[in-house]
Amino acid sequence: MALTGIQILKMLPKKNCGECSIPTCLAFAMKVAAGQVEIDDCPYVSDEAKATIGEASAPPIRTIKLGTGESQFTMGAETCLYRHEKRFVNQTGIAVLTSTDMSDADVDGRIERFNRLEYERVGVIMMADLIAVKDAKNDEASFTALVQKVLDGSARANLILMSDSAATLAAGAKLCGERTPLLYGATLDNAKEMAAVAQEAGAAMTVKATNLDNCVEVSEALMAAGLKDLAIDTGARTVRAAFEDNVVARRAAVRNKFKPLGFPTVTFPCDMCDDPMMEAMIASVLIAKYAGIIVLSDLQGDILFPLLLERLNIFTDPQRPMVVTQDVYPLTGPGEDSPVVITCNFSLTYFIVSGEIEGSKVPTWLLIKDTEGLSVLTAWAAGKFGADMIAKFVNDSGMAEKVNHRDLIIPGYLASLKGELEEELPDWKIIIGPREAGHLPVFLKEWKPSK
Ligand code: SF4
Repeated sequence: MALTGIQILKMLPKKNCGECSIPTCLAFAMKVAAGQVEIDDCPYVSDEAKATIGEASAPPIRTIKLGTGESQFTMGAETCLYRHEKRFVNQTGIAVLTSTDMSDADVDGRIERFNRLEYERVGVIMMADLIAVKDAKNDEASFTALVQKVLDGSARANLILMSDSAATLAAGAKLCGERTPLLYGATLDNAKEMAAVAQEAGAAMTVKATNLDNCVEVSEALMAAGLKDLAIDTGARTVRAAFEDNVVARRAAVRNKFKPLGFPTVTFPCDMCDDPMMEAMIASVLIAKYAGIIVLSDLQGDILFPLLLERLNIFTDPQRPMVVTQDVYPLTGPGEDSPVVITCNFSLTYFIVSGEIEGSKVPTWLLIKDTEGLSVLTAWAAGKFGADMIAKFVNDSGMAEKVNHRDLIIPGYLASLKGELEEELPDWKIIIGPREAGHLPVFLKEWKPSK
């Protein structure tokens, strides 16, 4: 049962010292209750209280971490059924399958595409996250050789090790060292041995079930054996069954706090059909509906890119606009005769405007004013893109020393701001730029300094 902020407050030292970066213990307790900060942020809370609060405030879907360092992959930690209720926390992992019954060329191709296929969108680098290594021949030697090949072939790949043999998994996990893999898969028959392997490796274990009921049984057996970090494969191998199981598991965990299903799901679109396009469709359904990981049979750009984009959209926090940092952005090498353009820090605005400027090849100073992620008109209406604020930013930016003219271009719909801004910036001439970003290239090419 989740604790309220007041219940958490009772267990805090109540020093109101602010060392947790929050001014009061009450505010800190409220944030812990809302899942916005960790109880560990308070250095004075007792271990006993930490354990109680940590357990009670843990998300209904357990947080599972794989790998280490910059490439660490985190899944789970979800707290809601619908994105608009709060937000989805950790994006679905995209994995590609390699197997001991594949040829070297097939494996090499998958590793090469895993490393190469990455895309940039609104400043975010998007790529696949994991490589699954399957022991298809029930043979430890060929499995460990493939694990080593994947480890050597990709420094950033997180691994899913798949075998029915606990000893084989243990050998694979040993090779991974600090790159802690996800292990797969424990059944009712081998739960004890698999739990021992996972404990020895400090890795999460995946339940390999035949259906949802069986999944609960295996999950309970692993928890009884002392494992806390699990993932679940309910055994569904049709899109309908996988969709239903994902929904039932998420609902049971979030609404009913049902622990045996409170783990990220691992799903296998690669086993659901032979048609790559259909596989991509199935994967897109499962990304939208709660999959912790999807395992694909291969990675190809035309299939991977739309899945990455869908994932980016679904896992973007709807309550927090994507922003870029307030700064002066020199685009295509501007100099003292280059135009100066100013706009807001809503990342979509930034990328559209900067894209048009770069496309025009007109060297330009782009000033990005912090508007807390609001678009130009909304920011102006909300008082975050007012003349006084813009003037202060322009003065602080040092632009007056960087250019030998005094033209400030504001693209968009803010003609009403012109007079006010000219009063705030008496040395500058305010030019209202084109309403559409697409018209910026022509505008910038024709622009001549006024003085
Ligand atoms: S660090 Fe701890 S004691 Fe200090 S204000 Fe934060 S919660 Fe309170």
